[in-house]
Amino acid sequence: MISSTLIFQSEMFSDWIIYNDETHGEYLVTVDHSEDTCYCTCPDFQYRKQTEKFGGAKLDDNEHHCKHIRKVIQDGCS
Ligand SMILES: [Zn+2]
Repeated sequence: MISSTLIFQSEMFSDWIIYNDETHGEYLVTVDHSEDTCYCTCPDFQYRKQTEKFGGAKLDDNEHHCKHIRKVIQDGCS
């Protein structure tokens, strides 16, 4: 099971810690509200998913979201 914790929020950014209690993996998801992009520190996202030139993926591009970003969106990032 994975859980999300909001650790920082401003008008431009929010940061979430996503913790997986099966693998004990912990990743940081950042949502950029001004660019409508999101970013995750997990290898799945970094090596396979991100599409934007400066990193990250569009918030509405769920083909390119890892499970951590999906969790944040499901929990209501915006
Ligand atoms: Zn991820």
